[in-house]
Amino acid sequence: MPAPGTRPYNFSAGPAAMPEAVLRRAAAEMLDWQGSGMSVMEMSHRGKEFGVILAQAESDLRTLLAVPDQFHILFMQGGGLGENAIVPLNLSRGGAADFVITGSWSIKSHKEAQRYCAARIAASNAADGHLSLPDPAGWQIGADAAYVHLCSNETINGIEFQQLPDLAALGSKAPLVIDFSSHVASRPVDWARVGLAFGGAQKNLGPAGLTIVVVRDDLLGHALEICPSAFNYKIVADNRSMYNTPPTWGIYMAGLTFQWLREQTEGALTGVEAMAQRNIAKARLLYDFIDGSDFYLNKVAADCRSRMNVPFFLADESRNDAFLAGARAADLLQLKGHKSVGGMRASIYNAMPLEGVQALVNYMREFERSHA
Ligand SMILES: *Cc1c(COP(=O)(O)O)cnc(C)c1O
Repeated sequence: MPAPGTRPYNFSAGPAAMPEAVLRRAAAEMLDWQGSGMSVMEMSHRGKEFGVILAQAESDLRTLLAVPDQFHILFMQGGGLGENAIVPLNLSRGGAADFVITGSWSIKSHKEAQRYCAARIAASNAADGHLSLPDPAGWQIGADAAYVHLCSNETINGIEFQQLPDLAALGSKAPLVIDFSSHVASRPVDWARVGLAFGGAQKNLGPAGLTIVVVRDDLLGHALEICPSAFNYKIVADNRSMYNTPPTWGIYMAGLTFQWLREQTEGALTGVEAMAQRNIAKARLLYDFIDGSDFYLNKVAADCRSRMNVPFFLADESRNDAFLAGARAADLLQLKGHKSVGGMRASIYNAMPLEGVQALVNYMREFERSHA
């Protein structure tokens, strides 16, 4: 095993870096979970040991995200893309839903929902290349919308809602559905404005294969007849995520991450509030460096830049390969941008310490100095 604190900094967009303390704890418990004689992977999901793990994970997540009592927490499979179908199957009632298009993931959500309901576009930032957020005051939300969907952090485009829209104030009674896959637990959620939130675990919580759904009580029980039972939110909620075998290992790993998050502090702040402070500091360090250099650039409007995913470009793109090779040699991994955007992308999720962002900025400064 590598000595503590010596692993490379990993900027993958997902599956992404996990807190080292979580990986070490899982390694220590791998062959024998707390004297049970079993790995968590080998346990019956209905046994008392896994029951403890599941209950603890759910209660820690509820505490961390301050999830109100009228919301259910569901541990599912299928990922974010699975939810693009599962949400309309459960919420659309075969009617209409309105989508706010802000980048790659909301485009995918809208497209998939068309298979199950009248999926309309309430607003889009396509005209400006997905570099700013459309003002909620201009969104076209139908009176008959069963729900309004948005992606609260566009992982690929690097744009994030700094606050969620208040649909009621916009004159809509529709519940807001958010895809928070890539910034869940990086900042508090304003649940008063949300009906349902979903996210794959593999960006900010745990390994791939676990999907978190937080859904308000009144949205259960309206699934279309064709909705698979294992994806029917009411059935999953009634069975406390145990209608079928849940992704036990993913729940365990995410549970360890929840415990780690609860222990984090920044001054007087703890948990997600502490992470939000740390994430603001990390993002500021990187964006300020990029903005202060002519060698690098980020094109996203300043008021909606993502704290989690920072796409950036070298002014001279012929140096991209050299930049990436030098980064790897400096133990800075997985900085290549998404193929649809190009350039570079640094994903700086909760598990990335400030020191990791500092190391990236130091490398970028040195690369600029030796290539300018
Ligand atoms: C990664 C991601 C997804 C896709 O999740 P899968 O688990 O691959 O289905 C969906 N939405 C957002 C915002 C993402 O970042």
